[in-house]
Parts: sequence; structure tokens; C-alpha cells
Amino acid sequence: MEIQCSLDVRYAEQIAALLRPPSPQEIQYSHRPTALDCWHNSKHPTIVQQDYFEHLLAARNCHGLKIKQSGEIGKGVYANMDFEEEDLVLKDQMLVGAQHFSNKAEAFVCSHCFCYIGSIELQIGRRLYLRSLKNRDTEDLKDHVHTSKQSKVPESNVSDVHVQKTAGSSKGAIPEGMVDALMNGGLTLPYSKEFPLPPVFSCIGGCREEYYCSKSCAEADWESCHSLLCVGKESGGSGTCREALARFYEHAAETNDIFILAAKVISSTILKYQNLKTANHECQKKKMKTSEISGPNFPFLLEAWKPFSMGYKQRWWDCVALPDDVECSEETSFRMQMKDLAFKSLQLLKAAIFTEECAPLFSLEIYGHIIGMFELNNLDLVVASPVEDYFIHISDLPPLEMEEADKFTRPLLDTLGDDYAVSCEGTAFFPIHSCMNHSCCPNTKAFKRDEDRDGQATIIALRPISRGEEVTISYIDEDLPCEDRQASLADYGFQCNCPKCLEE
Ligand SMILES: [Zn+2]
Ligand SMILES: [Zn+2]
Ligand SMILES: [Zn+2]
Repeated sequence: MEIQCSLDVRYAEQIAALLRPPSPQEIQYSHRPTALDCWHNSKHPTIVQQDYFEHLLAARNCHGLKIKQSGEIGKGVYANMDFEEEDLVLKDQMLVGAQHFSNKAEAFVCSHCFCYIGSIELQIGRRLYLRSLKNRDTEDLKDHVHTSKQSKVPESNVSDVHVQKTAGSSKGAIPEGMVDALMNGGLTLPYSKEFPLPPVFSCIGGCREEYYCSKSCAEADWESCHSLLCVGKESGGSGTCREALARFYEHAAETNDIFILAAKVISSTILKYQNLKTANHECQKKKMKTSEISGPNFPFLLEAWKPFSMGYKQRWWDCVALPDDVECSEETSFRMQMKDLAFKSLQLLKAAIFTEECAPLFSLEIYGHIIGMFELNNLDLVVASPVEDYFIHISDLPPLEMEEADKFTRPLLDTLGDDYAVSCEGTAFFPIHSCMNHSCCPNTKAFKRDEDRDGQATIIALRPISRGEEVTISYIDEDLPCEDRQASLADYGFQCNCPKCLEE
């Protein structure tokens, strides 16, 4: 049975406006919020459109790139200077991102900038502790993980964490109480001071789900989206129903954590909308006279939505790749199921944070496009673990020192096993990166250097790039045969005409 979303019907006009690529006038509005009078009479659309991108690039302190409309194929990123091979071309700050749900037990990171937090001891102790819970009877697992979330290592509550006497001792390698001591600061490992990590800050709303590296990260996340998505006791008053929100998270954890990213997009748009409305009260009055589309405040919603309007291409259920185990004949029903899943998730989110003024954002059509944006545009979020550096440092010490340190670290390494250090992994949307066009012989790639230890995207030149040349990246595995490449790229809705494809 086909799903019907009543908001799709009621707000068809607004949804169409939100999904239209932003007009130059709309882009201009983003940077001159007081210039509402210019809304209808921009004379130089192309020039004006640059403003939005220039703002994005300037905010990233990136002077080597330009974003230009490039005829039929839309926008593209161009070099504004010469780059040598291996030069840093761009560091792109994400608009929204999230650590994968399953990765949260493995890597303890700031929920805003994704750097590792606490200490080497806390990173190791926390993993051992959570692993000891995992190793228990699976029947008990849910309860325990739940409990552990309630009492998991905020700096002031560390003593609340009571490690079971059996923790880590199944292998007999770790002395009793060691995990506890690692987590509560009672034990300092040799040479760990050489790998300092920022302290742990709890969420302002008291949710004990999100932690940060600093007060400023906690506040920035709160203001940009978490205040609507916090299940903490102190988060009241923001119009969020905490029980409904918990159900939404549960559903996302059981099905697909891409829904959490979609919730962040919606929440950050609502918050930005509210700020714009307050800040532009005067403009709003002027606007009332000329607003045609749908109510006086719709331009603010369009404006708040703009950062994402560059990103989406297709609905999620239309663009998600068919899994290998699904027969072609079942494609229609598979896509219907995905749509169903998105609809269920959206209803849960609506029950939690719906606001009438931003109702079009809660339509299935918009939700589908947001999730589709992550399906097609995302860059994996990866941050290397300092725990790995730590153990490598120990193994590289001169023999005597190494032996001495090894007495402490060996049991830990043995218990942690092969995956003794796990990277932070997640998904994020990067606005400049998302403007880069594809090539099967790209001149840049996303690559994290040793010093890149946060959630920003790092784009590096693969060969010299001269000023004026288009900067390209590969959306797919460019080593695949031509036919397979074209098939993969069909998901993105285009046929590749790069030099490599033309030659083949
Ligand atoms: Zn941070
Ligand atoms: Zn919170
Ligand atoms: Zn190609």
C-alpha cells in the first residue's frame, strides 16, 4: 500500500520551493539579510551567487578555491591558485555529522568536532569496560548497555561507574580493579602524558549521551542542533518531547543511523529559522507586504534551509543502492520498504520535535531528500585513534624502557586484541566537498594526514593543479572497469564524460 504523507499534500508549494535549487536572489539573501528589498530585483544573478560560496570558502579560510556555475553541469570547484602534488587543497568543516552508533563504544570523541577526549587511560578503560559488558550473556546485554549509558564516564561521575569484578578478568590478564582505575584517573600509564587529550565536558542538557572536548564545542552543538535533540532532563522548554525522542533514537539504532543525521539537519534548520526570525524582525515586517508564497515567515525557512539546498539530489528510497541479496524483480517492493522505514522514522521524529511554523520540513518528500543527500554526498568521517599512536610509541622505545613500560601495557594489549585502537567512524555532510564534480581520474582525494585529528574533511592534490583548472574527486572506486563505473555513477544521475571514460 502506498504511503501518504498529509504534509506532502498540504505543503506541496513550499516543498517545491525548498527543493528548487536556490535562486540567485535567495542566495543573496543569505548574506544580506537586511536587504530584503532586493529580493525581487537582482540584476547580476551570477555575480550574486558567488557571495554564498565566497562566504563558505572564507569561513573555512580557504583562498585557493573558487566555486563557479559551469554551464549545463551546474556548479563546480575550481583552483584559484597553483597546487603541487600532495598540497592541501581544502579543509572543509561539516554542516552536520554523526559518529556511527556502533562506533560509540569503541571511540570516545567530542560530539561536535570529533576529536578524541579524556585521556589514553580513559579511552582504553572505557573500551575494556564496555567490552566486558558485551561479553556477557546476550540476554543481559541490552540492560547492561543501557545502564552503562546512564553512568558512562562523565568527568564528575566517573566514580559512579562500578566495574564488575569480572571485568576483563575472563582472560586473567588484567588485575582486578585496573579497568576501574583507568577510567577514574586512579592509574596513569607510562608515557601517556605525551599523548594529552582535552578533558571531557558533559552535555549542557544533561543527557549523558553526548560529550565534548570543550565548553565551546558543547555550546556550539547545543545552539546548532542538539538543544532540540537532547534527551537530558535539563533540556526542557525547547518544545521537545523527550520520550518520543528516545523512541526515535531507538528506531534509528535498530534500523539505520542515517536517520539521526536527517534529524540533525531538520533540527539545525528549525533553530536557524528561529534565530533569523528574531534577528530580522524589522525585515520581516517589510516582507509581509510582498510575500506571495505562503505566509510571512517562509523566506526565513528558505534561508535557514539554504546550506543544505546545495546538497540533495534524489530521494533516498529512489537512490539507495539495491543490496546484493535483493533480486531485481523485488526492486519495487524493496524501495517501497525503504520509503516505509523513512516514514516510520519521520513520524517518530515528528512526535518529538514538530513545530507548526516549520511544518514543510516534516514532509516525507523533504525527509527523503535529506536522507538521499547523505546516501549520495557523504564523505565518511574518520578520525585516527591516539591510542594507536600510544602503543606504537611504547613499542618503539629503547629496549630497557620498552620492557619496563610493557609490564603495564602488555596485559591491556593482549585483552584488547588486534583491534586495540579503533578509529572514530561516522558520516558527515561537507558543503564545499559536495560541490566537487566527479572524475574517474580525479586530481584530488580525501586523505587524512597525521595531523588531521578532527572531523573536518581534508582534500589533498593527487598531482599538480594549475590555477583555473577544475578540482575533481572520485565518487566511486575509479579502478573499476568502465562499465561498472558508469553503473555506479548512474546512482548519482549522470553519465561520466571524463577523459578516462572518453578514452575507454
Ligand atoms: Zn570538540
Ligand atoms: Zn544532550
Ligand atoms: Zn569517468
